[in-house]
Amino acid sequence: MTSILLSGPDMSDAERAAVITAFDSGWIAPLGPAVDAFEQKMAERLGRRHAVALSSGTAALHLGLLAWGVGPGDVVPTATMTFAATANAITYTGATPYFVDADPETGQMDPDLLEEVMSELRRQRRPVPAIVPVDLLGRCADYTRIGDIARRYDSRVLADSAESLGAEHAGIPAGKHGDAAILSFNGNKVMTTSGGGMYLTDDVAAAARVRFLATQAREPVAHYEHREIGYNYRLSNLLAGVGLAQLDRLDGMLERRRDRREAYARLVADVPGVEVFQREDDERDNCWLTAVLVDPEVAGFGAADLEAALRGAGIESRPLWKPMHLQPVFESAPAGITGAAERLFVTGLALPSGSGLTGEECARVDSALEDFFGSRAERAA
Ligand SMILES: *Cc1c(COP(=O)(O)O)cnc(C)c1O
Repeated sequence: MTSILLSGPDMSDAERAAVITAFDSGWIAPLGPAVDAFEQKMAERLGRRHAVALSSGTAALHLGLLAWGVGPGDVVPTATMTFAATANAITYTGATPYFVDADPETGQMDPDLLEEVMSELRRQRRPVPAIVPVDLLGRCADYTRIGDIARRYDSRVLADSAESLGAEHAGIPAGKHGDAAILSFNGNKVMTTSGGGMYLTDDVAAAARVRFLATQAREPVAHYEHREIGYNYRLSNLLAGVGLAQLDRLDGMLERRRDRREAYARLVADVPGVEVFQREDDERDNCWLTAVLVDPEVAGFGAADLEAALRGAGIESRPLWKPMHLQPVFESAPAGITGAAERLFVTGLALPSGSGLTGEECARVDSALEDFFGSRAERAA
């Protein structure tokens, strides 16, 4: 039995043709017409003035912070419920990540807690040049409240929208929130370039700075002239070709992710103690990953039991992000903790959500879930 992945790439003949076109154009290096077109199309779709295609979402976070001068001595509040890339990028700059716990319902950075953290850091006279909210599993963070807090504390928002392309908050698409935002095109995201990312902003100087730092900080002269340390972070033109084809298919791919969300919601509707995570008001989410929350007291089983049963059927599922404040590597980082993210980590399980799942694969996942819930209900009766 082939195994079913959580969120595999969704590729078609269009992506294949795009790679060949880029190949035949002779533009194999980073930079080239496909990179320019990819940046322009994404900026247009999201209503941003500037887009810089980069080698990863992590690179975009790193340079986004550097472009604002974030460095040693600075503190950068971010969500504890995130993938390590967010916290790693903050650490690369020499700044200290400050982990903020989650709203128990949405799993997003808790704005009340952020306010407390900002106020405490101000009392300590610690510089907080940037806040990095994270759009968990494809749902936008509360940018209305976070943006307001950032303004009152003279800080800026770099939105980690790696997971949320296609989502919206307050009528504004993911990627357009904050003073700048980043996207990821890693293989498991809603669209992929196999590996890649993008930095988006309306600030022409910040965009130019990111572009400059991403090309080894090479000065604009004929010979190779360097006055500062740079990085090799540009996206290859071949991969931008894949990105263009994926962007054309994005809306259809997002619909299929939503279909999975709806199917899981129907499947667990009558299962006591099991609910779809982030289900409330989820019309504007991109449904990157659909997860369920399992209350073992009510359900009679835990998320780990469900994971094991699916694994036995060749189906991948995964706990939600282990919070950063519980990661050994960030043990000594400051954190504002309520326990909400840890509870989500213990009770949550992400289910196969990829848009490339075939009808047959979807049916296999659904019947594995039905079998598991059915056998548990019988045992309980
Ligand atoms: C995937 C992801 C990233 C990193 O993106 P890469 O392109 O893999 O470097 C950053 N933040 C979050 C929240 C992510 O899920």
